[in-house]
This record gives sequence, structure tokens and C-alpha cells, in this order.
Amino acid sequence: MARSAFSIRSSGTFFRVRVTILLLVLSGVLLWGWRDVRRRRGRTSWDRPLAIAIVLVRQTPLEASAVLTFQDRVAALDGRLTDERRRYESGALRPFVLTFVGPVDDAVPPPSPAGETLIDAARQTWSSWRWSSRVDSLAALDASAFDSRIYVCARVPLDAAREMVEGESEEGGRIGTVEVELDASMVDFALFVAAHELFHTLGATDKYDASGHTLVPAGLAEPDRVPPWPQRFAEIMAENRPIGANLEVPPESLDELAVGPATAREIGWTR
Ligand SMILES: [Zn+2]
Repeated sequence: MARSAFSIRSSGTFFRVRVTILLLVLSGVLLWGWRDVRRRRGRTSWDRPLAIAIVLVRQTPLEASAVLTFQDRVAALDGRLTDERRRYESGALRPFVLTFVGPVDDAVPPPSPAGETLIDAARQTWSSWRWSSRVDSLAALDASAFDSRIYVCARVPLDAAREMVEGESEEGGRIGTVEVELDASMVDFALFVAAHELFHTLGATDKYDASGHTLVPAGLAEPDRVPPWPQRFAEIMAENRPIGANLEVPPESLDELAVGPATAREIGWTR
């Protein structure tokens, strides 16, 4: 009898301790989540330059010139984005400090998107967190020091005539990835796509249709230009430069990158 009373008291205490620990863990997770959402939203107030890591991940050995050019052109992208910010507000703070990280050698490709359900999304977040954590530790990168990280996963071009670039990122998240067949001639386009993914992490949406054609006028860098064609720039979220009503070409260099008014509004550069 005494023993059983003891065991009831003991399991009651155990239950209370367990519930208390679970509540503490839950409130910790909620507090972390709330602070992270607030910090992520705070990224588009533009009262400080955002710290962005551009991480070059070598999936295969690359030409040394491709790596050097890539590192060099990160500064050109930084300058181009600052110019675009000041086109909307002269004298505005520099919007980003882009930091080149790497190159890191890792053949494991970033996880590809699984599906549309909530469970798929959770799985995707988990595998992308595991993948980026491994690359971060290989690169000795402190993820907490950056507002967004864009990983450019590069391999040598298989076929000189056909080079590919693909990007993927969480809208409003912190991580974007770009997969690219990289030689020195592809560096500017790879960085263009990296900037596109960076803008996704800040809440910007795609400005092209299902067949890849630029949306008009949202995907135009200068929608008020008269006559409209040819456009002088490729809009960052459209990725092509329209040169006629049904004709567009990929940008030739970062000098052609521009942020159109629709994208500027989405990321809080204008109201
Ligand atoms: Zn996109």
C-alpha cells in the first residue's frame, strides 16, 4: 500500500517535471521562431546594409581562372546593387555587404524541391538545413553572422555549347542555391542568378511566365521607357533583357542587371 502510494506520487512528480520541460522547450522554440521571423522581416527596412555570404561550392575541380573571376566579380555585383538602390533613393545606405566565401569542395548537390504539401515543405527545410550546415562547417562559416547565404554549386561545363544555370530558394527564407556549369565566361550570369535567389530570400517574386518569358510590365527594368523596346537592362527577377515585343536575350554582363519598380516595391525599396 505504502509502496503503491509512493509510486503514484513519484509518477505524478515525474509527469509534472516532464510537462514543465516540454513547455520550456516549446516556449524556447516559439521564442526563437518569433525572433527569427522578426529579424527576417527587419531585413527589408534597409536601415543597415545586409550581410550576405556568396559561397562558392566546387562540385568538381574548376578552372583557376573561373574561381578568380568569380571572386573578383562579387564586388562588381555589390556595386551594381548599390547603384540600383540609389536609383530609387539617392544617398541611401549601401543595401548589401556581399562576402565571398570559399571555394569549398563538396560533391553532394543541394536537395531538390520535393512537392507542394506542408510535409514536403518541412522535409525540404530539414534537408536544406542539413546540407547547408555541412557546407558551412566545411567553409568554417558562421551562419549567424549573415542575413542570407547564397550557395553557388559549380561544376566544369560538360559541353562547351550548352551551359546550364538553375536556382532555388525559399521565399522570405535565408538560404538560396544556384547550380551552374562554370567557366570564366559564365561567371556574370551565375552571379546574376545568385542575386535573383538573394532577392527571393527577401520576398521578391519571379517576373516571368511558365514558358520563361518576361512578364510585361512587371518584369521590365524600365516599364516607362518610350519606345519600350529594346530594354537597356535585364530585370533581376525576370533574368532576360527584352529587345522586342516577343524577343528577349540573356544578360551579357552584370552591367545589364537592374531592379525594376515592381521588385523594388516587393523588397521595400519603395512604398
Ligand atoms: Zn526565381
